[in-house]
Amino acid sequence: MSSILEVTGLTSGYGDLTVVRDVSLSVAPATITAVLGRNGAGKTTTLKAIAGLLPVGSGEITFKGELITKVPAYRRRALGFGFVQENKRVFKRRSVEENLIMGLYGLGVKRREEEERLEEAYTRFPILKERRKLPAGFLSGGQQQMLAIAVSLLNHPSLLMLDEPSSGLAPSIVAEVMQTVQGLRDVDGLAVLLIEQAVDTTLAVADHVVLLDVGRVVHSGPADQPGLRKIVEAAYMAAPAA
Ligand code: ATP
Repeated sequence: MSSILEVTGLTSGYGDLTVVRDVSLSVAPATITAVLGRNGAGKTTTLKAIAGLLPVGSGEITFKGELITKVPAYRRRALGFGFVQENKRVFKRRSVEENLIMGLYGLGVKRREEEERLEEAYTRFPILKERRKLPAGFLSGGQQQMLAIAVSLLNHPSLLMLDEPSSGLAPSIVAEVMQTVQGLRDVDGLAVLLIEQAVDTTLAVADHVVLLDVGRVVHSGPADQPGLRKIVEAAYMAAPAA
């Protein structure tokens, strides 16, 4: 199937500092594309630029056939982007329900539909319904991640970007989060762009892999390609950039 997201020749960074150069990738519906690379390779920067949170120096981003390179972040959300940023998961002092209600702001859905969207979230993650009155900070790490994912699904995205959804979680919880991510692909047909540190966990769920090093794509291909583990290892072991 043709891709939902097409990124070509993307260059981005922070002020005068260019961090990613000439990054191209595409994500098809109902697939998981993993962005791998050692610390500082430019994974988060790439996702932020795709989400419209960082300026694009050059290159193009096409989403569902529409050129969106200059479309502001909030409009991308309305078009069907979901983004769970690392370390920006939930408002810990607000209740679970308040987090969800705040996530509905700016979506332009009518009141009755808002209730339906909350119910959808609770049906998908029943534990959130049970704990809806509790401050989100009282949830376990895995449950907070579920809440962050639930918030990012409120706009019915066709593309979900996840930046290290399992960071800081115990291995058994990581498996649960990964199952959720697979369900989003297999049941909901979402296109997922996933950053993860744990290479084996990622390769087990991904369909496609984009490997970054020093801000450039050094490999792109199917996740079941023979020898991929070695290619990834080599990039992770390479001497850090000066
Ligand atoms: P990690 O796995 O450590 O999260 P990453 O591959 O996601 O790494 P990025 O976070 O995209 O890498 O960082 C890429 C480079 O950009 C790093 O050299 C980092 O120091 C730099 N960088 C990240 N955020 C900023 C910022 N706000 N201002 C300036 N430089 C930044």
